[in-house]
Amino acid sequence: MKLLYCNTCCDIVKLSRTTRTCQCGATGGHYKEDGLNAIYYGPAIPLGFANYSFRKALSVQPEYGMGIDYKAFVIPKVCPTMVHVVSEDYVSVVIDEDSTSVVARAGLEDKLVKIKNVYKDEK
Ligand SMILES: [Zn+2]
Repeated sequence: MKLLYCNTCCDIVKLSRTTRTCQCGATGGHYKEDGLNAIYYGPAIPLGFANYSFRKALSVQPEYGMGIDYKAFVIPKVCPTMVHVVSEDYVSVVIDEDSTSVVARAGLEDKLVKIKNVYKDEK
């Protein structure tokens, strides 16, 4: 699982197939259609959760006491599956039916690309 840490507002955002941005809007990104490669912009440091370790920790949440550790890491500046682009070159991805999120991304409106709602077919 890939996330972005914004150096401006310190928000952490989990990436998805559609564009997600931090609280201040300086950083954002999305997974490409393969669900592995991602693209992001802004003053962000990409983070990773080791999926297996994270899911295992979730499954054994303790009632009391110490929390459960899981593996998280800072993704290197140069990483083939996590590509950084300048804000001006970033193309925002939104869900077709969700027109409110289109409006919320003023400034990127001229570059918006609509895709099929990838979540609609899920059960
Ligand atoms: Zn921010």
